[in-house]
Amino acid sequence: MNNSSQASFLLRECPTCKSKSGSPIVSSTILAEDLSFKSLKKYWNGFFKEKIFFSYTRCANCATLYCPVFFKPDQLKDLYASMEDNTAGISLNLMKKTQNGYYKVLKQFSDVRGEYLEIGPDIGLFTERCIKDGQLTKYWLFEPNTSVWPQLSRLAREETAFIISPDMFKLSIVPDHSVNVGIMIHVLDHLLDPAEILKEIRSKLAPNAILICVTHDESSLLAKVMKSRWPPYCLQHPQLYNPCTVRTAMEEAGFEVLTVRKTVNYFPLSYLIKHIFWAFGIKINFFDSAGGVSVPLKLGNIITVARA
Ligand SMILES: [Zn+2]
Repeated sequence: MNNSSQASFLLRECPTCKSKSGSPIVSSTILAEDLSFKSLKKYWNGFFKEKIFFSYTRCANCATLYCPVFFKPDQLKDLYASMEDNTAGISLNLMKKTQNGYYKVLKQFSDVRGEYLEIGPDIGLFTERCIKDGQLTKYWLFEPNTSVWPQLSRLAREETAFIISPDMFKLSIVPDHSVNVGIMIHVLDHLLDPAEILKEIRSKLAPNAILICVTHDESSLLAKVMKSRWPPYCLQHPQLYNPCTVRTAMEEAGFEVLTVRKTVNYFPLSYLIKHIFWAFGIKINFFDSAGGVSVPLKLGNIITVARA
């Protein structure tokens, strides 16, 4: 790492325990920390033959895998503003099947009544599932991507209170101890300061309320086999969790962890084949005709259920 990168990027300590010591675990051939912000912008979206990300270190104290050098908050704001739909290629139906699995886990621990808070609901697939089958009275949705707001607003029914905010760092609009169900699906590993957000969410939860977090699992077989080619090693994840480290992160924020499980994701066969090729640098599109077949896989995601 050269001196100019230290100036242009953020230097971080462990996002869970604030320790500064650790050992490097995985890096790309060209290190993101050696490039300028301008040249990294084109690697933010999509799949390139040359994969570039900030190096990941394992914290010597709590074992969390994180990037000691990462984008600054204003750079992230810029990048997320140009975010493309990263689920392109997976049908709505399959995404709903995956979310259905998350909902079944939620139902085992919560009666899904009262007030609902979701960080990063995107187009609201999980929110919709909860509206349909839960008995919720109020919805707090924090979604920075305003282009999906029309889809989110369409979910609102007249008899329920629906509040959508762009700023996930302003949870202060939610009264303390008012929320019964908290949801973060693929959010925690995107946050620069996950510990702070977890603590803030906890202050909004009522006693015995449930928080559900879905994250990637950096200890999964897929991650071990693919090594630096594992897709979640990318510019969007300043840290990545495994069942142990996500538990630690939750407990540090004052939560009681009830379970951490592997989740089932449904993928079209064609999408999987395409991405396996892409991961090895071969860009193909001719497998689209294989669509129609879907594959349930425990691919490397985990769901954590915690109590406030
Ligand atoms: Zn740590």
